[in-house]
Amino acid sequence: MQNNEIESQPNCEDELNTGLLTVDEARARILDAVNMIRDTHTAALRDALGQVLAADVVSPIDVPSHTNSAMDGYAVRAADLPADGPRTFLVAGTSWAGRPYIGPVGPGEAVRIMTGGMMPEGMDCVVMQEQVEIDADTNSVHIGTGHSAGQNVRAAGEDVEAGQTVLSAGRRLTAADIGVLASLGLGKVSIYRKLRVAFFSTGDELRAVGEPLCPGEIYDSNRYTLYGMLKKLDVEIIDMGVVRDQRELIEKAFKDAAASADAIITSGGVSVGEADFVKETLEKLGSMSFWKIAMKPGRPVTFGHINKAVFFGLPGNPVSVMVTFFQFVRPALLKMTGDNDTLDAYTVHARTTTALRKRPGRYEFQGGVLGETVPGEFSVRSAGAQGSGILRSMSEANCFILLDPDRTRVEAGEVVEVQPFQNLI
Ligand code: AMP
Ligand code: MG
Repeated sequence: MQNNEIESQPNCEDELNTGLLTVDEARARILDAVNMIRDTHTAALRDALGQVLAADVVSPIDVPSHTNSAMDGYAVRAADLPADGPRTFLVAGTSWAGRPYIGPVGPGEAVRIMTGGMMPEGMDCVVMQEQVEIDADTNSVHIGTGHSAGQNVRAAGEDVEAGQTVLSAGRRLTAADIGVLASLGLGKVSIYRKLRVAFFSTGDELRAVGEPLCPGEIYDSNRYTLYGMLKKLDVEIIDMGVVRDQRELIEKAFKDAAASADAIITSGGVSVGEADFVKETLEKLGSMSFWKIAMKPGRPVTFGHINKAVFFGLPGNPVSVMVTFFQFVRPALLKMTGDNDTLDAYTVHARTTTALRKRPGRYEFQGGVLGETVPGEFSVRSAGAQGSGILRSMSEANCFILLDPDRTRVEAGEVVEVQPFQNLI
């Protein structure tokens, strides 16, 4: 059956919506409580790709370091150019890229010059070779009118000037950035060390892939979605597997994680079920805040610290894990990494082509498929049934459709706010 409406499945998170924290409040509290890891080290350019710069980079040189030609042609003094009719210039020599012409150039003479070739002393204009008439017999060129000083000339320092701050601390280095650094002759830069993030799943019902399922068991998918989302952040990943719902095992896992990681992420075990030991263990070993957030999915989230490590106890439902990771954990990890540029995921407005079902009371994140109808005009459709356990819709989706708490049903054709996540998670 093909249904154009989002199916909203009832789940254990559908209770009274009073006294809940808003998504923005929860996010602000988390961002407030995490700090940047300030350990730095020096890395070779290629290893620094995707990492966060720890210090401003000031250029030691001009780029280009010498004034050079942007074209293959003839370098002349603009003052020698004719006011009317062509003028004949004797060609004194050739300036190749990397092999400058160093001989003298007399008045009214030109120098054959290649792209990237250094401009000979006193020359300030390049006439493209297509625009001259060559007289091979006399080793000269005829140049007409219409040329001016500075034409086809790349000035020293035009790209970067010596002493200029080229990249600022806090920037995640892109391919272009490490290219720029190489163009400055810099082989190493100071970067923050990678964040170490440990995670594990909790639940007696969880099986690892490859094992047969007994009645009542399910495969552990959260460790895969978490792995994938962490991989995008380029952090050091410590996968601690599945931990059974036993007080002692959970406690041991927490201690191990806190000993090696800057951040710990767990999934499951934060509801009020009898076998949910995450909260009490966190409380025992460190500091614990448990929030019911006015959001769907992902209402119960536990946050705290164990020693220096930051702790995120995400819900168990697979879609809730992805939503809470993207809304809370990702910005927190980015802040911890020192990345100032991409903390806020951007949003766009889009016209929905499907009706969206929603109950009032909570902020909803629904999986959507965003497309561009004409440049700058977006449309979005539901990615299908929306349940906190329906991971397949997330796999269809490339964005979250963001629906305010007081919003109810959205009709096809209405405009909604959308948060694209393609390539981000
Ligand atoms: P919990 O918060 O532990 O009560 O889990 C809520 C729901 O999420 C239950 O239906 C669990 O079976 C499911 N769940 C918990 N952990 C995982 C996991 N790692 N992979 C897939 N489903 C999970
Ligand atoms: Mg559980």
